[in-house]
Amino acid sequence: MLTIDQILQIDRDHLWHPYASALTPPPVLPVVSAEGVRLRLADGRELIDGVSSWWSVIHGYNHPVLNAAATEQLSKMSHVMFGGLTHEPAARLARTLVDITPAALTRVFFSDSGSVAVEVAIKMALQYWLGQGRAEKHKLLALKTGYHGDTFMTMAVSDPDDGMHTLFNQILPKNLFADTPACRFGEAFEERHIASIKTLIEQHCGELAAVILEPIAQAYGGMNFYAPEYLRRVRALCDEHDVLLIADEIATGFGRTGELFACNHAGISPDIMCVGKALTGGYITLAATLCSERVAAIISHGAQGAFMHGPTFMANPLACAIGNASLGLLLSQPWQRNVQRIEAQLRDGLEAARALPAVRDVRALGAIGVIELKRPVTPDVQAGLIERGVWLRPFGRLVYTMPPYVMDAADVQTLTGAMVAAVAAIPN
Ligand SMILES: *Cc1c(COP(=O)(O)O)cnc(C)c1O
Repeated sequence: MLTIDQILQIDRDHLWHPYASALTPPPVLPVVSAEGVRLRLADGRELIDGVSSWWSVIHGYNHPVLNAAATEQLSKMSHVMFGGLTHEPAARLARTLVDITPAALTRVFFSDSGSVAVEVAIKMALQYWLGQGRAEKHKLLALKTGYHGDTFMTMAVSDPDDGMHTLFNQILPKNLFADTPACRFGEAFEERHIASIKTLIEQHCGELAAVILEPIAQAYGGMNFYAPEYLRRVRALCDEHDVLLIADEIATGFGRTGELFACNHAGISPDIMCVGKALTGGYITLAATLCSERVAAIISHGAQGAFMHGPTFMANPLACAIGNASLGLLLSQPWQRNVQRIEAQLRDGLEAARALPAVRDVRALGAIGVIELKRPVTPDVQAGLIERGVWLRPFGRLVYTMPPYVMDAADVQTLTGAMVAAVAAIPN
């Protein structure tokens, strides 16, 4: 067994953390276990996890139902290849996903991570047009302040000003970007709110394969929540101008915004949809790309006669079994009531921050709560949260939370109280 000091030493000497320097990384905390909504640190401290390990742990850690599903599947097979073989865990999960996602989506392609699910979605859109002899339709239209992943094509549709595009300017394909939707969720939609994307679709539809966006809630690009009418109008514009619509529900899927999928706020069905993150309740990596029968048929009638993708660990049985258990848990519980309760509590609890001098805005949608600051968050904000027993990962100008749906009222109160206190402590 390694001591805490040994772990930290090896971490410093050899490990790389997300978006971090190898040589001067920010501090890291060793975790030994997790239970419910709490992380247990090596020094015995416990922290309430307010980020659900990046949107994924919706039922809490170490859940007996998910543990049992994993153990049972392990005793049968952890993995078999999906080329030429199939199995019940994948079949059940595909059937559930088709049942609960918007009606037009009938085909499921499993992959390992969200970024790959988006790559797959984009490749589907490109093959869809190639299959119709329309090679000129190969560009994508995305939204500013969007985020779709860290691989190259996903970077090429993520926010054009966030640094990646400047860094990889020579490599990334040039796509089109519409202005961030200016119509906030819950506020009145006006015609001017759709102007930017409408103009781009009208002018470029001849070369556009698809519009790709995060429906209703843009996550890492700024936690922007926008009006359902915007999404309805984009759907209509795509139909009118023969452009596919890809909905990236990797962050928003499985209830996070108060609807099972964010597209449901607008009552629309995309042509292609990506899910990931909460799909296995945060147990193990798994993602899926769903598409309509029409997209699947045209791809399959194309020159290749096949969709040209196939990850080694596609539809991993262990991951699918846990996915089935996680969706079973979600759908058998009053998840919407839990999310609504959390939303009300986040609104209430975070409201006190609005009057603070460092704060620009406070907002909540579903089980997502945001304090937006006027200036970038400094490291002492996170330190202040940890001192108050709360684990969050503020970034940019955002101190935000998306707690597990099972977090009880007392813990949500501790969480919002810590957020307000940590922001209140920011010096002027
Ligand atoms: C996290 C995220 C991704 C990327 O998923 P990974 O599993 O990290 O590759 C893509 N799109 C959205 C909206 C996300 O939130």
